[in-house]
Amino acid sequence: MNQKSAVPKDASAIILLNHAGDKVLWAQRNPQLAFLGGYHAFPGGKLEISDQLIKIKNCTDAEQLARFIACAVREAFEEVGVLLVRGGEKLTKGQRASLHDDLISNRMTFAEILEHWNLWINAADFFYTGFWTTPKFSTVRFKTRFFLAICPPKQEPYAAISEMQNVEFIRPDDALNEWKNSKVLIAPPVLLSLKTLAENLTADKRGFTQIKYDSKNKDQRLRTVTKNLLENSQAADGQIRYMELNPRVVCFPLKTETLPPATHTNCFIVGRKKFIVIDAASTDDAEQNALHTLVDSFIEKGFACRAVITTHLHRDHFGGEMILQKHLQGKFGLEIPIVAHRLTAESLANKVEFQKFIEEGEVFDLKDENGAGFQLQTLHTPGHARGLLAFYDAEFGFLFSGDNVVSSGSIVIAPPEGNMKDYLNSLERMKNLPNLRFLCGSHGAAVSDAKGKIESYIAHRLEREGQVLEAFKNGAKTPREIVQRVYTDISSALYELAEKSVAAHLEKLYEEEIIHEVTRRNHEEFKKS
Ligand SMILES: [Zn+2]
Repeated sequence: MNQKSAVPKDASAIILLNHAGDKVLWAQRNPQLAFLGGYHAFPGGKLEISDQLIKIKNCTDAEQLARFIACAVREAFEEVGVLLVRGGEKLTKGQRASLHDDLISNRMTFAEILEHWNLWINAADFFYTGFWTTPKFSTVRFKTRFFLAICPPKQEPYAAISEMQNVEFIRPDDALNEWKNSKVLIAPPVLLSLKTLAENLTADKRGFTQIKYDSKNKDQRLRTVTKNLLENSQAADGQIRYMELNPRVVCFPLKTETLPPATHTNCFIVGRKKFIVIDAASTDDAEQNALHTLVDSFIEKGFACRAVITTHLHRDHFGGEMILQKHLQGKFGLEIPIVAHRLTAESLANKVEFQKFIEEGEVFDLKDENGAGFQLQTLHTPGHARGLLAFYDAEFGFLFSGDNVVSSGSIVIAPPEGNMKDYLNSLERMKNLPNLRFLCGSHGAAVSDAKGKIESYIAHRLEREGQVLEAFKNGAKTPREIVQRVYTDISSALYELAEKSVAAHLEKLYEEEIIHEVTRRNHEEFKKS
């Protein structure tokens, strides 16, 4: 089931500084959005064909950059209502709002609006700071060009469309503190940019200098920050290998043979001076080497690896842990235990050598000597697999949900390893964790609204259960018949897996005595299948 990764779509984003030049504009993407919903990001979006028609003056690299600047300017206007054009100062706030309405209701294209109102884009107002590409693990990918620009005087950005909320200018340091304090998730390139901005925008002890809208080549700080942003992007060739969800949480997606549309399994490195590795799953050499390089850098800083954990028995969750263990032993002389739930260890007895079993309630104390950091509580959450483990830190609100809940791909509940009743109990339990904020599943991006995500999983399963029961009552006798009636929204390639989930629903309904002995024969057959 080797999936091809999605081809990145061209996109632009704008790093908009306030007029004083000490704050940057960010906003929270609507949590409902499929791509990085709930994350904080800069305004930006996909290149449109009509962006080529937008006229730009003074573009030294017209072929390459003009349409991307045009896209960034259009997106900034669409999303936060800021019009980064020349001639715009003569427009009132009301007129800008009316133009915005023309644009988003498709009455006029952005090119037509500019032409009609005699407005124009001056390429010299934009500072190219490089591009970043969404990593391959994502099913939606962008190659996004970033431009630094200054907000024109007398324009106040606002949430101009429902995709963006909490639009604000913020000091980069303050933005990073919100991230450190587990208040927000930040889109990876935005986080990288904020770190560079924090070093450059707040370091000036003289306070801010007034930056003019057309100050290209005039303000040294602008030139420095642009140069540094661009160098960072170029040094990484625009590639992002892993994501920091918090200073103490690294998500390192590893290529595995998993269920489509997912192509990767998330390996999490949690903690700092003391850390654990969850699901070093890839059997691929290049993937392992990449992970080893990062883990090595932690060890070289003097951090201590406490354990390598396997969340459960499925093949996309183990395979690299013994190689990592051997690597750390060979290179640093370390003896790192591989741990899992006893049920997982029993199932993988011939494949992985475990040094320790962990159970419900086991705590991984990863706090630093000053008492700061994660204290991970082990949750035994059967349902998807009998020995499935999840981990939770109540202070930061991070739930590592394993395969219980993911943001990419579907969860199969296949009896006898899978049990629907247990699964729903596990979901219910995770949903009610105190101070729950962020959900880090084994596949796809972290989720900013953990509780909402788990609730939607529960609702979806119960809806399916109702449909399965209905189909069963109406005479669908085999799992395949039920799947054909109920799972009309999936491709036939997934029927076999869906049939297992149907068997799991029937098993639950039978145990709850909602369906009765007349169906027992069917139930036994389902169980065997
Ligand atoms: Zn699994």
